[in-house]
Amino acid sequence: MDRNQAWAARAAEALTPNYRQHPVALVRGEGVRVWDVEGRAYLDFLGGVAVSALGHCHPAAVEALTRQARTLWHVSNHYFIPRQIELAEALLAVTPFARRAFFCNSGAEANEVMLKLARKFFADQGHPERHEIVSATGSFHGRTLFTVTVGGQEKYQHGFEPLVPGVRHVPFGDVAALEAALDHRTAAFVVEPIQGEAGVVVPPAGYLRAARELTRRAGALLCLDEVQTGVGRTGRMWAHQGEGIAPDLLASAKGLGAGFPIGALLATEEVGAHLTPGSHGTTFGGNPLACAVALAVLAELRGGLLERAHQVAGHLLARLEALRSTGRVVRIRGQGLLLAVVLQGCEAAAVADAARERGLLVNPIGGDVLRLAPPLTLAPAEADEAVALLEAALLAAPARQGATPA
Ligand SMILES: *Cc1c(COP(=O)(O)O)cnc(C)c1O
Repeated sequence: MDRNQAWAARAAEALTPNYRQHPVALVRGEGVRVWDVEGRAYLDFLGGVAVSALGHCHPAAVEALTRQARTLWHVSNHYFIPRQIELAEALLAVTPFARRAFFCNSGAEANEVMLKLARKFFADQGHPERHEIVSATGSFHGRTLFTVTVGGQEKYQHGFEPLVPGVRHVPFGDVAALEAALDHRTAAFVVEPIQGEAGVVVPPAGYLRAARELTRRAGALLCLDEVQTGVGRTGRMWAHQGEGIAPDLLASAKGLGAGFPIGALLATEEVGAHLTPGSHGTTFGGNPLACAVALAVLAELRGGLLERAHQVAGHLLARLEALRSTGRVVRIRGQGLLLAVVLQGCEAAAVADAARERGLLVNPIGGDVLRLAPPLTLAPAEADEAVALLEAALLAAPARQGATPA
């Protein structure tokens, strides 16, 4: 038994069994690489689920965190926290629609306050009947009860009923269905610009613009879940900026802390003002350590990382497109460094296993999708190395039962 298996055995005895974990115990990281307890290196193309924007142990993030750790860790929101105010200012400076920021600790919490605030905005104006949340099938918004209700996936709701009332779903990408669902009872339409957990599903062009126009006409709010697509992941600060629209509320997390837990809600002045004194809060949210790291992330993005990530994404996409010659890749979809390789004739899980055995971590979704979300600091040579490993894995994976050979 190697030490990876030894950790797996201890996990089986000590942890709740909710995660399906791969048999590697990771103990160290640097840049795009992580190492397991046996000293084996892997190119990390899952990036902690689109989190490790700066790669592992980036010097600027380490410096920001350790300097803050020597100065002040936590005081609570009973007092002003200068790092938190600086982070709010830095985020608002790159988010033209927003005038107010609220900080929490995760994506689910950012969505939770976004949904709560959408309801309160109308309740405060004497319209409690306007409380309905419309969201898209296949969406993922987190694992609190409100966010699993709003997320369009029944498998995450099973056993946790009764769910939160006043939530309805429309097919993702379907403008007519959205139009039909919005009325005087709708508080908000909540949507991901690209559905990440569903397998990097990109809606038809113009969908976000239509959603903006339809919610405006119905008098409802447009709430964007940019937990996965934000902070440079798709080549822009926020994915919605590519559509030239402005939402009313936006939820961020994942890449914002590049691995240090933090979430944020960004709001217009009009809506943000309704998060009135005492109406919402969190003990840890906006804590000095998290804000110091997020400030370092934004400084890196401003300092050229956004442009470099955009360039390397183009390079990676071209190399991945060439994998169609294996006969096992149907197409590549996604944007920036949030990509999906759509497979045929083999199981995504088998390809991911074969890739891991060769030193590449990728994320199988469903039967035929591999999600790639490498650090934004990825170098072209590392992209080439990963694609070569993926090609070998594709060719090594067994043919799917009943599939015609590639
Ligand atoms: C990951 C994710 C969440 C949940 O974030 P947590 O930090 O796990 O709570 C919500 N929405 C989207 C789009 C996500 O990708």
